[in-house]
Amino acid sequence: MKIQVMAYVIFIHPEFTLYQMPPNQNILLPSLLNKHLRELNKISAPLHSEHKRLARLINDRHMSDNQLAKKPHYSYEELRKGATCLKCQSWHVKVIERSTHCLSCSFRERNGEVILRKLGEYQVLFPDKELKTDRIYEWCGKNYSKESVRRVLSQNFEEKGTGKGRYYV
Ligand SMILES: [Zn+2]
Repeated sequence: MKIQVMAYVIFIHPEFTLYQMPPNQNILLPSLLNKHLRELNKISAPLHSEHKRLARLINDRHMSDNQLAKKPHYSYEELRKGATCLKCQSWHVKVIERSTHCLSCSFRERNGEVILRKLGEYQVLFPDKELKTDRIYEWCGKNYSKESVRRVLSQNFEEKGTGKGRYYV
């Protein structure tokens, strides 16, 4: 099939924006989408059988059941807890004072950064669960003190509730 194609990257989420976007790129933000569609509709060249064939092909290949969007099944209990190396993903790390040292590749990362990274993982894996100090302490493999975990939580999130019911959003 010989047909001229113009490629665009189109962001459809209404709240998406891209800062410092280079000009003249084939990138369409949500705010430009309607204008782009109007411009397309202005093109008055007649449609040929090739165009219709292409439309049919695209339509036939449309995946309404997106396998990639499906998450695998997992539970908190079955997942391995602990810190990993940012550089080589090794689980062989050792906390020495304020840094986490990788025993596989010698990479060092500040403990606060590792805890924040683990928090990010936890939020992606368990978006419905509350962020609580005890849970994140355990999620980090009990490698860092509860005080360190609480400090990272309070510096990056808003504190809600008190005592045992305290959580962060
Ligand atoms: Zn490493």
